[in-house]
Amino acid sequence: MATPRTVAFHTLGCKLNYAETSSIERMFAAKGFTSVNFDEGANIYVINTCSVTDFADKKCRQFVRRALKASPDAFVVVIGCYAQLKPDEIAEIPGVDLVLGASEKFRVLDYIDDLSKAPGKGMINVKEVQTANSFTDAFSFGDRTRSFLKVQDGCNYKCSFCTIPLARGSSRSDTVESVVANAEKIAGMGVKEIVLTGVNLGDFGNGTEVIEGAKVKKEAMFIDLIKALDQVEGIERFRISSIEPNLCTNEVIDFVAAADRFVPHFHIPLQSGNDKQLKAMRRRYQRSLYQDRVDYIRRKMPHACIGVDVIVGFPGETDEDFLESYRFIEQLDVSYLHVFTYSERANTDAANMEAPVDMATRKKRNEMLRALSEQKRRSFYKIFLGRRRSVLFEAHKDKNLMSGFTDNYIKIETGFDADMINKISVVQLMNINDSGNVEAIVLDIPETVFDHV
Ligand code: SF4
Repeated sequence: MATPRTVAFHTLGCKLNYAETSSIERMFAAKGFTSVNFDEGANIYVINTCSVTDFADKKCRQFVRRALKASPDAFVVVIGCYAQLKPDEIAEIPGVDLVLGASEKFRVLDYIDDLSKAPGKGMINVKEVQTANSFTDAFSFGDRTRSFLKVQDGCNYKCSFCTIPLARGSSRSDTVESVVANAEKIAGMGVKEIVLTGVNLGDFGNGTEVIEGAKVKKEAMFIDLIKALDQVEGIERFRISSIEPNLCTNEVIDFVAAADRFVPHFHIPLQSGNDKQLKAMRRRYQRSLYQDRVDYIRRKMPHACIGVDVIVGFPGETDEDFLESYRFIEQLDVSYLHVFTYSERANTDAANMEAPVDMATRKKRNEMLRALSEQKRRSFYKIFLGRRRSVLFEAHKDKNLMSGFTDNYIKIETGFDADMINKISVVQLMNINDSGNVEAIVLDIPETVFDHV
């Protein structure tokens, strides 16, 4: 059997998974493999799964089938969070040859390094699922405009609905020096924007204590990391993907407000605007703290974009609870919502809680919050019509257009100009188009000349 040389990847789930798939892809490339499109037919398939995704099992099966349709003799590897949680289920999917959980996925090449010596398709069925406890750095590199840089993994919180601590283990982080070195490497690849990613990003540094004489001090915390990154030459923008409200401190907000490279965009999970539900979810704050965080950001950065995660239909959420949550979110000065419909996950406390909400009600609440999100997004966009902001342009699926985000995360669309791709330009925001994005005119002025507020 000739040594296979082509590999195809598919990633389900979050930015962290994308960063990790991209790093694994570069490991394959370093060994001489060529990446091909999923449906093109590859010798090896790597499917990086997610346990948060609804129907994780169905999706996993679907991609295994697609891989085998394109290449019936392919060697199929399933990795990631779902592989960590349900290795036996995945091993039984016809056509799956290798299952690797959270800590082993970066060793995928050790297993399939020399397939000429392997027994061949269907003969290997390795389940190597251990508790994830070491940190492996990763970053994505694709279209050259933006890279997801993994700086932290795992979580020590115990939210009652969440499987992530089971899938990814306890909280651990890279060092500041290593993150800065990766950011410099990414800058050298021509990328202009880095999105910092982690499971619980604001928890960066937790557990990295060093003993100096009799004193124990934290080696470096999230604030130290962002201060160091703000100095990295070549990267024009850093974005914080998501930060828990209790970790989004005044210090972090003050720093972002004054930073050179950190953009005014916060994504802060709320999950419910009802204290009774927050307690049942075992979140570490009450809604008054969330309100306080939003108010503080607004005081420091009136122009900041603030995104919110919300879960609807969590057990015990009555109509009154939901309406209280809805009204709380309605009055919050935020810019958009990411709405998730609660679904039961095995091995979580929430799955056994009383008073589950019926599916039709969960769906209705989801629709109500999505409509609220659209209103909020439009209201936020409207504030900036007629003003100037900086945009990092990238290609659009319509060849006549290009799109990009402003520093404060307004989606812009305008006519294609190849010279502007992967460059930061100043635009004047004109109107909201039918797709809900903002049409803008590119201005021929230096990028420092834009409206900061
Ligand atoms: S903070 Fe809660 S929801 Fe987020 S990863 Fe940790 S346990 Fe899960």
